[in-house]
Amino acid sequence: MKILVTGGAGFIGSHIVDAYVGLGHDVVVVDNLSSGQRKNVNENAVFHEVDIEDEQEVERVIKTHRPDVLNHHAAQKSVLQSVKNPVHDAKVNVVGILNVIRLSLAYGVRKFIYASSGGALAGDADIAPTPESYHPKLLSPYAITKYMGERYLHVLAGESGMSYTILRYANVYGPRQDRDSEGGVISIFINNLLAGKVSKIYTYPGMPDGMFRDYVYVEDICRANVAALKPDATGTFNIGSGREVSTAELYTLVQRVCNRYSDPVFAEPRPGDVRRSLLDLSLSKSVLGWQPTVALAEGIEQTCQFYNSLSAEGRGSL
Ligand code: NAD
Repeated sequence: MKILVTGGAGFIGSHIVDAYVGLGHDVVVVDNLSSGQRKNVNENAVFHEVDIEDEQEVERVIKTHRPDVLNHHAAQKSVLQSVKNPVHDAKVNVVGILNVIRLSLAYGVRKFIYASSGGALAGDADIAPTPESYHPKLLSPYAITKYMGERYLHVLAGESGMSYTILRYANVYGPRQDRDSEGGVISIFINNLLAGKVSKIYTYPGMPDGMFRDYVYVEDICRANVAALKPDATGTFNIGSGREVSTAELYTLVQRVCNRYSDPVFAEPRPGDVRRSLLDLSLSKSVLGWQPTVALAEGIEQTCQFYNSLSAEGRGSL
């Protein structure tokens, strides 16, 4: 199949590109390198440095390659940035996906896969584990725009011949994750421990161990994106680990797995931080035939090895 992956130079997108290339698919990547990196892009994929806000440029790429599948991972992915600059967040996450959906419909894309956020949409839900049917509370501009992407897909693609799969990820972690942003807490903890820096644990009153999150390894995310290629894999699916962990418990585990130890400091939560999230995986198991396979300690070990090898090579950045 010919598959166009937007955001394919980023953390998650680049792993998905590797998985698709490994299965023999023809892969085209669109990315403006705002947070992704050219060196993440698989050498067997065709790369276009294009901004998804630029409708003409996106059209040029889709018209040239005529993909069967459009896998949309390009996004402004930071909750904190969305609070600080909601207009930029809306431009990338709303105008950007609108361009990509409309052009996919115009050029006969058969399947659209959208990376949504279960963590942001189900944040602080009163049902845990939270099923896909839960009405989202949308506690940040990022949660609003990721949800709008889903709604646009339902409305614009719903009546067409283009099928779509929405994958709502929990907190994803693994090699290549940006260790400087606020989102990749496992990368941040590992890199702080390797560099001898102090880590922060954000706590709400009454939650001394920090917030509870559902951490899923990027390899399991890739398998979900492969499962989503099947024609009958349509709908909205949570993709998580099935387990919630407090930040303090996570920090203890990262220390043990990496065999580095340092006392953390505790701090006030940041704007948009949800207290807990845990996704219900029943639907993804029954319909997609998908379930997580990588235990948290094992995923942390793989991630720690990746950053250790970068340090050994003396590379300061990812
Ligand atoms: P990332 O920042 O590493 O990847 C996003 C990619 O999109 C980057 O390569 C970036 O350069 C590119 N991009 C950003 N704006 C663009 C634009 N205007 N035009 C073209 N390319 C653009 O982030 P990630 O963590 O890999 O996230 C990938 C997707 O998964 C996002 O849609 C994000 O919302 C979603 N998601 C991530 C998580 C997580 O835990 N990391 C959880 C839920 C959902």
